[in-house]
Amino acid sequence: MRWALFGVSVLVGCVSSHPLDPEWRRQRAVAATEANAPVLRLDWQVIGQSVEGRPLRIARLGNGPRRVLWVGGIHGDEREGHLATAELPRAFVDTPGATAMVTLTILEDANPDGSAANTRANKRGVDLNRNYPANNYLPGDGRGERPLDQPEAAALHDLVLAERPHLVIVAHAWRGDHFINFDGPAEAERMAQLFSRHSGYRVKPSDKIAPTPGSLGSWVGRTLGMPILTLEYLRGSDPLGVWIDTRKAILAVILGG
Ligand SMILES: [Zn+2]
Repeated sequence: MRWALFGVSVLVGCVSSHPLDPEWRRQRAVAATEANAPVLRLDWQVIGQSVEGRPLRIARLGNGPRRVLWVGGIHGDEREGHLATAELPRAFVDTPGATAMVTLTILEDANPDGSAANTRANKRGVDLNRNYPANNYLPGDGRGERPLDQPEAAALHDLVLAERPHLVIVAHAWRGDHFINFDGPAEAERMAQLFSRHSGYRVKPSDKIAPTPGSLGSWVGRTLGMPILTLEYLRGSDPLGVWIDTRKAILAVILGG
């Protein structure tokens, strides 16, 4: 494996890493070796802290007018998207024209405590994907006492409002199936169809899924009216394989088709 600084002006600073996950590191090493590509070094910025004090980190790539936010995970026991999150910077800057067209913001992990403990919820037992001020928010039962009463949810909320992205993409995993779900205006469905064409993943509207009160999709898509894709990888699948399967689709929706 070759390690090198890469000559892109926005890419300076500390080394990209992922919390405490030897399997992730092994997969990352395999991916880098197979691609024979240097690992990008990203300029991570801390936008908040988890309940246990872990940093919530973002990196920005490109400087184009289209703003896209990628969220690497929000349920800590759905780790299939972590490798895609690590590979995305390299793939993005290697795509011709991408950095001039798009400003890509990557939130590495919206629930680092859950990832460290391999739990769906955060340290307080709150499902962060039910803690947003959507019109359908319901308090209690692992959803928090009020919207944004968890620091991880509040940090991502503030990031979305500051960035006002043209598209949000959030990685999850689903038992027994993979698909692309969307919320928001017609553009959200167009992005889901584009993703589907490049990946073979079926488009699954939110009304075909059990209700998700206070979810990020409900808040961003339906309350704010901004396009959001919820990418459901097959739970338990090989992270490298699903990244390869969805790489083209992820880049297509980031560029906007
Ligand atoms: Zn999930």
